[in-house]
Amino acid sequence: MKMVFLGPPGAGKGTLAAMASEHLSIPHISTGDLFRAAIKNETELGKKVKEILAEGRLVPDDLTIALVRERLAQPDVKNGWILDGFPRTIPQAEALQQISPVEKVVNFDVEDSVILFRLTGRRVCKSCGKIYHIVTMPPKNEGICDACGGALYIRSDDQESAIKTRLEAYRSLTAPLIQWYGERSLLVTIDGAGKPDDVFQIFVKAIKG
Ligand SMILES: [Zn+2]
Repeated sequence: MKMVFLGPPGAGKGTLAAMASEHLSIPHISTGDLFRAAIKNETELGKKVKEILAEGRLVPDDLTIALVRERLAQPDVKNGWILDGFPRTIPQAEALQQISPVEKVVNFDVEDSVILFRLTGRRVCKSCGKIYHIVTMPPKNEGICDACGGALYIRSDDQESAIKTRLEAYRSLTAPLIQWYGERSLLVTIDGAGKPDDVFQIFVKAIKG
């Protein structure tokens, strides 16, 4: 199955994509990974991406589309794929329909209050990078990593004001896309507020229907 995953930061989209990728034996393709791979392999497109990112600019549609086109021509995608982080705009969505038409767009819907709870409670170990949550996954000793004894800290983009800015940007960017896919009867909206295992069960049922 060819799928696109949509969802705000903190919706657990990455976790769900990894679970779905394993369950369906199809690759999980995130644009972040595509950019990093192209830069690492020093491809023609990768050199351009590197230059743009170094200048702090957004990677333009045509370049992102070219990378996706290249990736979707690889042999491992013959049974389908999960795209995450693409498309972000209607021109990108139109291009994707030309390259390889998507069959289902799964929108993980999570209320802002739930996202704020998830992200503002997140703590990360400075030494080993292990992730905790002060309520749902606290360390044994406050502020200290169970695994390595390192100090836990709040990432700057997990500060409440930063999260609100990211959410607003996401909602205004994605709203037209959600409508666009809805009009084409490709959209499935899933309540993403539960635990990953529960959301995954809802997802499995939803894509069968
Ligand atoms: Zn640690």
